Amino acid sequence: MVIIIQDGASEETIQNIIGKVTELGFAPHPLYGVEKTVVAVIGDKTQEQIDSLQAMPGVERIVPILRPFKLAARTVQPEGTQVDLGGGVVVGGRQVVMMAGPCAIESAEQYLSIGRFVRAAGASVLRGGIFKPRTSPHDFQGLREEGIPILRQVREELGMLLISEVLDPRGVELMHDVVDIFQIGTRNMQNFSLLTECGKSGKPVVIKRGMCATLEDLLKAAEYVLVEGNNRVILCERGIRTFEDQYRSTLDISAVPALKSMSHLPVIVDPSHAAGRTDLVPALCKAAIAAGADGLLVETHCNPLKALVDGSQALDAEQFHTLMDALRPFAHAAGREL
Ligand code: PEP
Ligand code: MN
Repeated sequence: MVIIIQDGASEETIQNIIGKVTELGFAPHPLYGVEKTVVAVIGDKTQEQIDSLQAMPGVERIVPILRPFKLAARTVQPEGTQVDLGGGVVVGGRQVVMMAGPCAIESAEQYLSIGRFVRAAGASVLRGGIFKPRTSPHDFQGLREEGIPILRQVREELGMLLISEVLDPRGVELMHDVVDIFQIGTRNMQNFSLLTECGKSGKPVVIKRGMCATLEDLLKAAEYVLVEGNNRVILCERGIRTFEDQYRSTLDISAVPALKSMSHLPVIVDPSHAAGRTDLVPALCKAAIAAGADGLLVETHCNPLKALVDGSQALDAEQFHTLMDALRPFAHAAGREL
């Protein structure tokens, strides 16, 4: 159930309610929203327990959560959650947040040059992996630990927020101080110990939908992060496996409005891994914005033909600039900024 706190209730009043929940033997999950503060309480309660909470000062009303995912359910935060990434960048607000950069970081020079052009074109977040989840162990696995000083250097030099994939729980500690957002990849969506560790880190987490996962599976994965008290969770649709083989995956555009009606969490779209082809990326970005996406995650490279990973779907500097210019009117038409 969710305890909706009255507008203007003092912190002391909220703490009293949280204390009462704990006293009754439940774990309280407070969520401080832009408009409403709520306390989610998981577990079976007796009518007597519910009545005792309902009677407390500061309680506006109590609503049950009927979904199998609890903390991620829309009921918990009907106006939608805004995830503050720091540096004035908020996902889930008016801005469509552009996250762009290479699939894999190859060197400091490569990462800096890509970072400079995506920043100049208006991206707010720079992506780039140092641990790459490759289907074959014989393919380039990323710079791994050697990439840490590059992340640190580029983050300082460009002053951009960085998002990078964390492959296993050990990486959470290793990357904690050099990235701003953890990315959990499609292959790791149900790596529960990794989700828990990211939850404990308190950092914003982008969870990519497993390529064969349902929306309910994705929301239950998000639940592992939320239950640790980390509410900065962003969902990412990146394409699912279907019989169609003209592109790498099939972008499930319906997932955007469907997830938004099921959950209060912001939703972003990765058109690059869905398409696997540079030429399709602009159209998929436009479709994502039209469907209500709160952000985009796009792969770019200074020289796609020479990219060590995913060059076939990367946009070069000129293509990325052109894309940003083309997307702005779409964002405005959708009542958003880019
Ligand atoms: C990536 O973002 O480079 C990546 C590997 O994505 P996904 O997990 O969606 O395949
Ligand atoms: Mn990639």
